[in-house]
Parts: sequence; structure tokens; C-alpha cells
Amino acid sequence: MTDAAAHPALDALAERLGNRLVRPGDPRWDAARSPWNLAIDQRPAAVATPGDVDDLRALVAAARADGIQVAVQPSGHGASGTLDGTLLVRTAAFDLVDVDVDGRTARIGAGARMGLVLDSLAGTGLVAMSGSSGVVNATAFTLGGGHSWFARSFGFGSSSLRAVELLTADGRHRWLRDADDPELLWAIRGAGGAFGVVTAIEVDLHPAPVLTGGRIVFAGTDAAAVFRATVAAGRTAPDTLALHAGAVRIPDVPQAPAELRGTTIVSVETVELGASAAGRAALDAIRSAGTVVLDAVGPIDALALTAIAEEPTDPSPGFGWSALADLDEDSVTRLVETWESSEGQAIMGLAFRVLGGALAAPPARPGIAGAVRETHIVSGHAMGLPDRAEPAERAFGALDAALGVAASDRTLGTFLAPGVGYSGAYAESDVARAARVKATVDPEGRFRGNRDFT
Ligand SMILES: Cc1cc2nc3c(=O)[nH]c(=O)nc-3n(C[C@H](O)[C@H](O)[C@H](O)COP(=O)(O)OP(=O)(O)OC[C@H]3O[C@@H](n4cnc5c(N)ncnc54)[C@H](O)[C@@H]3O)c2cc1C
Repeated sequence: MTDAAAHPALDALAERLGNRLVRPGDPRWDAARSPWNLAIDQRPAAVATPGDVDDLRALVAAARADGIQVAVQPSGHGASGTLDGTLLVRTAAFDLVDVDVDGRTARIGAGARMGLVLDSLAGTGLVAMSGSSGVVNATAFTLGGGHSWFARSFGFGSSSLRAVELLTADGRHRWLRDADDPELLWAIRGAGGAFGVVTAIEVDLHPAPVLTGGRIVFAGTDAAAVFRATVAAGRTAPDTLALHAGAVRIPDVPQAPAELRGTTIVSVETVELGASAAGRAALDAIRSAGTVVLDAVGPIDALALTAIAEEPTDPSPGFGWSALADLDEDSVTRLVETWESSEGQAIMGLAFRVLGGALAAPPARPGIAGAVRETHIVSGHAMGLPDRAEPAERAFGALDAALGVAASDRTLGTFLAPGVGYSGAYAESDVARAARVKATVDPEGRFRGNRDFT
């Protein structure tokens, strides 16, 4: 446990921030320090919710005076358990979203969640690079690379990052574009969490006059057939079509809807930028692989992007595993067999997303989140209860083994497991290059992200 008395500068900061600085011993402490992923028990020195840039400057100065690091963690979906002893910053107050419809750009405050960004785009015919969840922070998603429904059209979310408004350790606060510091922007596009405090980002918006999307739910026994059909359809589907497939065992716990407890849900989630015959054909081929129990694919608006996958919106404990892979019908069958085996029962959900398209090409804007050769990202998740950790680890290992040669030893930046550094997602030479940028921009190592440059 951190000793509050050992941080005199934080005492002075508390006078400035009042109840926006929470320290051990405060009744709000456990709620303040908890990340969204409740399986991670992080113990920072204090948690601050600054109201403006002057607060942030004061906060960085206090951290320097007390010899501790500053970590920005808007909500902690990606919490890694590596932020003990830091001054943890929540960016909720920086929540302005400013849309330039004609210029097709948006300035997004560092506290804004993806749902707020999409809400701001209602009626514009434009979309931002959104993933499947509306409660994920838009800045964190983008700085981490960010796999969006539109990734096959436009690459990673970071490829649509035009500029960052950054407070650096030297106290400067400014907008930075490629022309100002190309190396920093390269590193920020995928490994962006430890160069300073980003107070806002500017991103490209993409025309989306027509959006089609939704979820197709199949009988619980159809996982293998539906997964094989999705892999096959993904080979020829247009780049404008996103395909995610998943199977979830709904646990028999009070938090789950009573009618679903103990059942298995097999589903394909999809979004198409447009409404093409090729997109429809791809989905029809998948539909014919199983027994469709619900088909909710149709015209949608941008805000609906965050509801398709029906992901949890409240904090919950979770363990996860993921790997980039080149799935084919055989490897995906082995994956499902493993998930259905007695060892695999420790894993609640098994899922994959079809990559390719723009993700396989050099990014539109240079970034460490660059071209990805693999055709799929596979993931597994388990309930993050302490007694489930070991069985889940064993089962994740079994999934990895089931992939065999289809698997790579990397994943995407936003899918990295707790405790794994950036080399779990990027080439070691690129991680070393990003570490050199870090040493230049933050020579004292004042800032710490969820991920290390290892
Ligand atoms: C239900 C769910 C759905 C998801 N869907 C997707 C998806 O579709 N695609 C995808 O790519 N990922 C997805 N993710 C993963 C998610 O994008 C990552 O966990 C990511 O870390 C963002 O989570 P967060 O908003 O909680 O950020 P946090 O975990 O709070 O922050 C992540 C890191 O970003 C950096 N950071 C954030 N804000 C700032 C800032 N202002 N200044 C400096 N650094 C900053 C810091 O290093 C911080 O540690 C999903 C996660 C969940 C739980």
C-alpha cells in the first residue's frame, strides 16, 4: 500500500484539486483506483481527475517533485497491472467533440468515449474509426492502433489520426502533426500512451452515406460450421465488409439474463460501408452454414455501431488471450474443438475477426501500427475470477496449440494481454525505435503507459 505521507507534493496538489484527487484512505479509493477490467488490482499513489491543462501541469510538477510517474488511464479496459505507485490520471473532464463536416475531421477531447463521438456524428453521413464498444475511450483506442469496423477499408484507427494535442514533460502544450515531429507521430500511432498527456486528438472522418450492419445469431451447436463459413466468406468479401464471428457460453450466474444462463450463443457481427450485392452474398453464404435464430442485419446509423456486438458496458473482471493468425477451415475447426473440450470449458468466449484489405497495406499515415500480414485476429476470454486464472491460462495455451502453424506470436496493440509489452504486437526493431522517441520526448521517464517498450 502506498504511504500518502511519503508524497508531500501530492499534499499540495490535493489543495488545488480538492475532491478531484483521491488517495489511499479516502472512502472513494477503491472505486477511483479500479480499472474497467476488475481482474486487475492496480495500486497507484493517487488518482486525479484534472479539470484543465493548468491542473495537468500542476499534476506533472507534483509528480516530478515527489519522484513518481504519471499514467493516463481514461477507463482501463486495457489495464495491465503495471501502474502501481503512479499518479493515475482520468481524463473525463476533457470531453469536447468538435466536428468539421465539410473538412471531414473531428477534434476529440481525451475524455470522450467512442459512443459520444458517434453521437456527435448523427445526421452528418460521416463515421469515425470506431470499434465494437461505445464505452472505450476514443483517444486510447486511437493511440493503441484501434481495430475498427472500417479497418479493412481504412486501416487501423491510428492511420486516421491527423494530430495530437500533447502536454509533454517540459510543460509545453501544443498540437503536433507529422510536419512538426514525424518520429513522434509515427510512435504515437499505435504505441501512444507514454509520451505525455494527450488532451485531444484530431482524426479523419470517413463518408458513410449508407451503412448496413447487425448481428446474425445461430444455434449454439453451429460454432464450427459458422466459423468455417465465415473464414471462407472472408477470402472474397469486399474490403468494405467487416466480419466478426464468436461463440459465447453464458455462465449460470445472477448477472446473466435468466433466459440465457447456461446456453451458448454463436453469432456473426457485421458492418458494411454501403450495401453491396457482394456483401449480401458473403452474408448469405454464412447464413446457410447454420440454423439462424435471429437475423438483425439491416440499415443502421453510426451510433448503432456500438450496439451490434452487445458487449458489456459496465466494468467486469476478465482474462483474455489473442493472436494474429492465418485461419483456414482446418485450424478454425481445431479451435472450436478445443473450446468445446473439457479443458476449453474454462474459456467463456471464442471469437475472431477477418483482417486483410487496407490492414495488409502500408498505413495511410506512417505509424508503428503498420501493415499486418495475417488474415485474422483470434481471441478468447474468460471470467476474471481468481480461481479461474490457472484453468483459463491452460485453456488459452490449448487454443494457441490448436492454431498450430496458423498462429503468429503477435497480436494487435489494443488486444495485448496484461503485462505484455509492445513487442507482443510490433517488430522488435520498431519497439526499439519507439523507445528512442520516448527517451527524446520524455527523458526523465515521467510518463508511463499500460504497455512498456519491451
Ligand atoms: C468490451 C470491449 C470492446 C473492445 N473492442 C475493441 C475493438 O473493437 N477494437 C479494438 O482495437 N480494441 C477494442 N477493445 C480494446 C480497447 O480498445 C483497449 O482496451 C484500449 O486500451 C482502450 O481502452 P480504454 O478506453 O479503457 O483505455 P485505457 O485502458 O484506460 O487506456 C489505454 C492506454 O492508452 C493510453 N492513453 C489513453 N488516453 C491517453 C491520453 N489522453 N494521453 C496519453 N495516453 C493515453 C495510456 O497508455 C493508457 O494506458 C475493446 C475492449 C473492451 C473491454
